[in-house]
Amino acid sequence: MKPSFWTNYHSHSHYCDGREAPEAQVRAARQQGVRAFGFSSHGPVPFANAWSMKPERLEGYLAETRALQQKYQGDIELYVGLEVDYVPGLCGPGTYAHALDFTIGSVHYVDQNWEGQPWEIDGATEGFMKGLVEVHGGDIQKVLRRYYALIREMVEQDPPLIVGHLDKIKIHNLNESLYREQDDWYQAEIDHTLEVIAAAGCVLEVNTRGMYKRNLDTYPSATILKKVLARNIPVMLNADSHAPEEITARFAEAAGVLQAVGFRTLRVLLDGTWQEVPFDQKGLFL
Ligand SMILES: [Zn+2]
Ligand SMILES: [Zn+2]
Repeated sequence: MKPSFWTNYHSHSHYCDGREAPEAQVRAARQQGVRAFGFSSHGPVPFANAWSMKPERLEGYLAETRALQQKYQGDIELYVGLEVDYVPGLCGPGTYAHALDFTIGSVHYVDQNWEGQPWEIDGATEGFMKGLVEVHGGDIQKVLRRYYALIREMVEQDPPLIVGHLDKIKIHNLNESLYREQDDWYQAEIDHTLEVIAAAGCVLEVNTRGMYKRNLDTYPSATILKKVLARNIPVMLNADSHAPEEITARFAEAAGVLQAVGFRTLRVLLDGTWQEVPFDQKGLFL
């Protein structure tokens, strides 16, 4: 039996809205059989929000995580990244890329809310519904088209290495109360977006946070993952952990979903090289 291991490149700490210090994440990652681990706090944004790193903490974040990278050399591979918001004209993956080993690009905001501020579509459903009704007249199709258009715009104009939680906006669609994923217009948005991601050569993450926080399926859904496989877009498994105990949460189950879809390898950053590694529900193996 070949020894198996996990990787997770999407993790938060007390530098943003995660719990505990980066080193506590590293210790937990080692205990959970992680061989390569990426720090990816929410990068600073040039407007007020409750969960991103404050701009004045960025330098300390980079210094502390780079020091950990040295300290744990030969023990666990550590990579320094950020999850960067794409907000046109304000910030995107390229903003900090020069200082990092990798970037995760995520769309957490769609244009403006009722107060003219960036409209957060990643938070409480109450705020999402208020924006949907007051700014968009309840037109969910218009909002989703705009959400996926922003992801395409990011990938085309300011591509990250990794595209974050592709269909996370579905957190507001419990029991398909707002839209049906199988509808033609929605699948057309997905097809178009995957086409753009494939052309740009980005890695798509399969993110388990909805599984362990909200009892949802993977981001993105298995129906989307079938299209991802058909387009040969590389995928990686990420937890989007906000606490040490979440670093490999629901990975076995998500790996099973990926196997069932037909994936046989995952994209990882190991020994400083991006490579495809086979996996099963116990982990990756070389
Ligand atoms: Zn995110
Ligand atoms: Zn995240």
